[in-house]
Amino acid sequence: IRINPLRPVILAAAGSDRMKRTITKVPATAAVVKRFVAGETRAELLPVVRELLAGGRTVSVDFLGEYTTERGMADAAVTEYLALIGELAALDRTLPDSASTVPRVEVSLKLSALGQFLGADGPAIAAENLHKLCAKAAESQVWVTVDAEDHTTTEETVAAVREMRSEFPWLGLAVQTYLRDAVARCRDLSAEGTRIRLCKGAYQEPETVAYRKRAEVDASYLECLDVIMRGDGYPMVATHDPAMLDAGLRESAEKYRGPGDFEFQMLYGIRDAEQRRLVGEGQALRVYVPYGGQWYGYLMRRLAERPANVGFFLRALTER
Ligand code: FAD
Repeated sequence: IRINPLRPVILAAAGSDRMKRTITKVPATAAVVKRFVAGETRAELLPVVRELLAGGRTVSVDFLGEYTTERGMADAAVTEYLALIGELAALDRTLPDSASTVPRVEVSLKLSALGQFLGADGPAIAAENLHKLCAKAAESQVWVTVDAEDHTTTEETVAAVREMRSEFPWLGLAVQTYLRDAVARCRDLSAEGTRIRLCKGAYQEPETVAYRKRAEVDASYLECLDVIMRGDGYPMVATHDPAMLDAGLRESAEKYRGPGDFEFQMLYGIRDAEQRRLVGEGQALRVYVPYGGQWYGYLMRRLAERPANVGFFLRALTER
């Protein structure tokens, strides 16, 4: 069974507008949000990024937002990302060169935030927006990785990334190992040389498409890891799990991969000491840093992952 018995309940709440209104209004929520989110604006985000880069970590910045249902919101997300890419690249240039042979700055994005759900034209709108952002990223020497969302979006997202990679071969994609077809997906994508961010997966999925048992999700992770470490792409091992991190270290040593041809990734605010320890040992580690006002869905997925995170939330609610 899953380690967090509250997971389905919390993930159900992630989709509830009523719960969203309630939780957003609780003043103590702000303290919890602050732990996982780098701020609501670019001005709040940039000092956080500067500090991470100065300390030897690399970053992938996510402007929060998902399941956009209005064209105006998708356009606004594109405008924000364009400005973000420019400002991150400018910030990167102000810092001393690092040992990193790959871009220190990346942005992560969700196709659902770029318009994937805007009716029949949605996928085309999202692809056009993705193209705009990749073009800007290419001229700014910033990487882009597309997040994996719920399974109903997977095929379209993979198709969009595949198509875009003919022009932007460095474009990355997240693969969720809870999906039953994850190993096959990793095999195909890494044979094509794709940068793959391997993660367990954070959404509530039906048993028909996803493993539910932790042991199965972990076994799938290990198999995918082996595939992508052998493959022709650039593996991004995204996890906080000590067992998966150990496997990443073992596999990379066996397959002679080091900084420059694979990296670890963790979320902002999670296992910060472990992040610094890995960097201290000479490992490449990228921090996924979310910012923006649309933090509700992201926060709920973090709470669902770990009973301790819920405890942290409840404590913050009762603290004065
Ligand atoms: P879990 O199975 O959650 O935890 C395993 C063990 O790790 C725990 O038992 C504990 O020992 C340790 N651990 C975990 N958290 C902590 C903590 N806070 N403190 C101490 N120990 C801890 N999901 C998606 O669906 N799509 C995406 O695009 C996506 N992108 C991601 C990008 C990055 C960089 C990362 C790190 C995650 C991303 N995720 C994404 C989320 C991911 O799918 C998982 O939901 C999340 O990372 C939790 O899984 P885990 O591998 O960290 O381990």
